[in-house]
Amino acid sequence: MNQKTRLEILRQTMEQNGACYGTGDTQSFFTNESKAVRVAQLICGSCPMQARSACLEYALTTGMEYGVWGGILFWDGDAYYRKRPPGRPRADEASLPVEASKEELWDLVHKLTPMEKSA
Ligand code: SF4
Repeated sequence: MNQKTRLEILRQTMEQNGACYGTGDTQSFFTNESKAVRVAQLICGSCPMQARSACLEYALTTGMEYGVWGGILFWDGDAYYRKRPPGRPRADEASLPVEASKEELWDLVHKLTPMEKSA
C-alpha cells in the first residue's frame, strides 16, 4: 500500500469515527493553552481506539507540527503527553511524563495496528 492510500484510509477512519468530528470545537485542538488542550485530550479520550490510532499515525506520517492528534499535543514540531499549566506542578502530576518521543509514539501506533502495518 502506498503512503497516499494509507493516508486516505487513516483520514477516512478519523472522519467516520473520530469523537471530535461534529463537535464544532476546533479551537481546543489548535492551541497550546493548557485548559483547552485538556478539553481536546478529554475528547480524544472518548475517541474509539481505531480512530485514535489512525489520528496519531496520520500526524506522525505527515509530520504534523501543531494541534492535538490522537490525544498527543504537537507544538513547534515537538510532541507532548500533556501541557503543564503555568506555575508549580501539583504534587500528583509532578512525576507524570510531559514530552513524548516520536519513537515512543510510533511504537504505540504499531502496537495498536500491528496487522495494518505489516500489510
Ligand atoms: S484522537 Fe482526538 S483529534 Fe483524533 S479523531 Fe479522535 S477525537 Fe479527533
